Amino acid sequence: MASYDFRAQRLFVDVPLREAEQVALGREQAHYVLNVLRLDEKSPILAFNGRDGEWLARLVRSGKRDAALLPERRTRDQTSPGDLHYLFAPLKQARLDYLVQKAVEMGASAIRPVLTRHTQVSRVNRERMLANVIEAAEQCGVLSVPDVLEEVRLDSLLEGWDASRLLVFCDEDAEVADPLEALRAAAPAPISLIVGPEGGFSAEERDRLLRLPHVLRLSLGPRILRADTAAVAALALVQAVRGDWKG
Ligand code: SAH
Repeated sequence: MASYDFRAQRLFVDVPLREAEQVALGREQAHYVLNVLRLDEKSPILAFNGRDGEWLARLVRSGKRDAALLPERRTRDQTSPGDLHYLFAPLKQARLDYLVQKAVEMGASAIRPVLTRHTQVSRVNRERMLANVIEAAEQCGVLSVPDVLEEVRLDSLLEGWDASRLLVFCDEDAEVADPLEALRAAAPAPISLIVGPEGGFSAEERDRLLRLPHVLRLSLGPRILRADTAAVAALALVQAVRGDWKG
């Protein structure tokens, strides 16, 4: 990342990116680029779509409100998105926006809202989550946009649990124990991380989670963290011990 050009605006476009093949921007994205970012033909733009790597592109204006991108050269080859699923009890809007953005910055390859007993929201706004995921992906230099999986109730998630994945269960009731040690000792497997709602997990939920065949009960220290704090803390531990922070 050292040679990364942080000045250039990054834009996610969900269309193929090929050299010299112009890509029309949707009306909303054109408005954002022209009137909010106020970019012009000279502004360097880095376009990515999650499949064709990242391209240095030029802005091509047509009329007052339409714009297109003209990919000139590939600046980074596509990399695989990793395999870290972040499962979370959805929070109220502003904190949910924050939590979704942090999960992307911390390298989640998929995020999934999980409705638990004490979850305080009944429905999540999927469009808003997608917008937050794309915005975070554009800002944090990732080459792919994490999947936003369908919201699911905890009991159905556990019924169909894929035992090939290690479920790292952030349990506010767990005895304080070294999380680095716990993560190092767990068998190698793709990781799904779960963090509960503000009201925590219920006793029966905790019991079901701990009875899963492949679960790691993780303490995040002696204090009760708010769910969005726990998200970043847990993702940092997982990435540092088992993920892409190891270089
Ligand atoms: N009952 C408390 C706990 C909620 S914290 C409350 O109402 O505030 C929200 C979630 O963050 C928890 O369900 C858990 O997944 C995680 N969490 C918070 N503190 C934690 C800790 N010390 N250890 C492990 N997980 C924690």
